[in-house]
Amino acid sequence: MTIYEALKWASSFLEEAGREHRIAEIVLLHELNWNKTKLLTSLREELDEQILQSFQEKVKRHAETGVPVQHLTGIEYFYGREFCVNNHVLIPRQETEELVQYAIEAAQSKEKPIIADIGTGSGVIAVTIAKELEQCHVHAVDVSPEALTVAKENARIHQAPVTFYQGSFLEPLQKNEIVVDILVSNPPYIPYEDKETLSDTVINFDPALALFADHHGLAAYEEIVLQAKDVLAEDGWILFEIGHQQGEAVAQLLKHHFPQSDVKIIKDINKKDRIVWMKNYPQK
Ligand code: GLN
Repeated sequence: MTIYEALKWASSFLEEAGREHRIAEIVLLHELNWNKTKLLTSLREELDEQILQSFQEKVKRHAETGVPVQHLTGIEYFYGREFCVNNHVLIPRQETEELVQYAIEAAQSKEKPIIADIGTGSGVIAVTIAKELEQCHVHAVDVSPEALTVAKENARIHQAPVTFYQGSFLEPLQKNEIVVDILVSNPPYIPYEDKETLSDTVINFDPALALFADHHGLAAYEEIVLQAKDVLAEDGWILFEIGHQQGEAVAQLLKHHFPQSDVKIIKDINKKDRIVWMKNYPQK
């Protein structure tokens, strides 16, 4: 079978199964370890039998089960860098790149900012910030040892200076009496009640620990904000990614515990509430 024929087969197979046909090309490029130009100029070539088999197996598995293409290839891109992912971590979403931008912007007003990423998962937030800012220290916490293995591997690949801790939200920072300038987190925020509305690609493959939270999805924010009183610098920032219906609730929560702060709800590129931004001020 030629490369062209293999792609054609895969595209229609995926479409018939109600999946996106572009997955075919992503998987094949990964199997061949080629870039798109090489693929386009080699369409008439025969596809190696072993690669064909592995390609077909992955396309079928995606069609049948909805396994995310990122689990088939083991990678996802974030903020221009390649990161390892697996089923122990949430696959990085594009919206989270905006959260990172706001964290970087805040950090730029400090000479040597200390930043903490809470619920680091694959480590994309922590590693990206550590790479983008020259003079900073990044602490990253996750409760899942399996997620931390992935995050540490990503920090190693990118040679990012990040200190990792296993624990519940800010607990390890409290224990070590670390004071941070910027707290950033994309915690689990989907209410358990919304479970039915998620696609099979999400519900069966992203770790539940990274997706769901109690109390209408607000439990993680509540926990973090309470602990933040011990950890956040007097003139620090808190930056949260939120579910699009949680803006008001999270903003109020912050205002309640940090009454002297400025709080903003920021929309993502799709005009949905996506980030809550807080700047703290010393108490008068
Ligand atoms: N912080 C990680 C990310 O943004 C993981 C988030 C999560 O698991 N909820 O990808």
